[in-house]
Amino acid sequence: PYDVLVVGGGPAGASAAIYAARKGIRTGIVAERFGGQVLDTLGIENFISMTYTEGPKLAASLEAHVSEYPIDVMKAQRVRHLDKKDYIEVELESGAVLKSKTVILSTGARWRNTGVPGEAEFKNKGVAYCPHCDGPLFAGKHVAVIGGGNSGIEAAIDLAGVVKHVTVLEFMPELKADEVLQKRLYSLPNVTVLKNVQTKEITGDNKVNGLTYLMRDSGEEQHIELEGVFVQIGLVPNTEWLEDTVERTRFGEIVVDRHGATNVPGVFAAGDCTNSAYKQIIISMGSGATAALGAFDYLIRN
Ligand code: FAD
Repeated sequence: PYDVLVVGGGPAGASAAIYAARKGIRTGIVAERFGGQVLDTLGIENFISMTYTEGPKLAASLEAHVSEYPIDVMKAQRVRHLDKKDYIEVELESGAVLKSKTVILSTGARWRNTGVPGEAEFKNKGVAYCPHCDGPLFAGKHVAVIGGGNSGIEAAIDLAGVVKHVTVLEFMPELKADEVLQKRLYSLPNVTVLKNVQTKEITGDNKVNGLTYLMRDSGEEQHIELEGVFVQIGLVPNTEWLEDTVERTRFGEIVVDRHGATNVPGVFAAGDCTNSAYKQIIISMGSGATAALGAFDYLIRN
């Protein structure tokens, strides 16, 4: 069996595997796509100490760093089940079962898509998901935020300080965000809120140039010219496969303590799949290190 088996090969998993291997213990990492969400990212400007890098480049460095250590890397393998017996057992889609004394779950998350025409086509060409990451790229421009929940309104308030104008589009007749956020939003001079509207299409040529929406009460279609669209309709953790084996929040996030430990002894978690407050590369890497050190502490005590 492994001492530490990491499930997921994004920034959190890579960091956890390196920290574990540096303790001289038997470490494995199993991942469907090594690199994770970073593979889908174009420019990265907030990975501290690197003024600029690109997703595929950072993903390659993660893999190169992991390969410096005697870590069993199992790529293109999807995990489907976790079980705690004498060891913790991790079952792959292939049917194979891996055994380990501790497991670190770092399966990340995915942004929920609207699915409207133009969204996939203009991803990274005006369609964005992370205001902390891409907000500054739209300085002085007009952008839309799709989604009037807490994350949408937080994004709109954040962006309003950076861009020229923000239009918020909410499908329902009322915003779902907390009252205090709505108050703050309505106090801003450069924000327009459209409620009871359905986004129909994100338009563009080689990058985004507008958005078409339907007014749901009148059925009338409208078009606005803008340069960016932030989709804020939810971040879904990749944890469905855990079912009831590990405690999760109602959003599906794995609940961890400050050592990265879950409610199951020997099972740790890190990164975007957990209830960490913010979801960023640097934060995932930090929590991966925490979970590996937490797992090591557990091993020397058990
Ligand atoms: P992920 O990167 O999601 O990695 C999850 C890993 O788990 C992957 O290897 C995946 O294949 C694997 N996995 C999932 N399910 C299974 C399974 N069942 N079996 C086996 N393996 C599985 N953050 C920044 O800090 N700066 C940015 O500029 C930035 N830009 C972004 C742009 C985009 C378009 C996106 C989508 C995200 C961006 N982020 C950015 C967020 C950042 O990418 C994430 O916070 C970070 O990648 C999370 O790392 P993670 O290791 O927790 O999860």
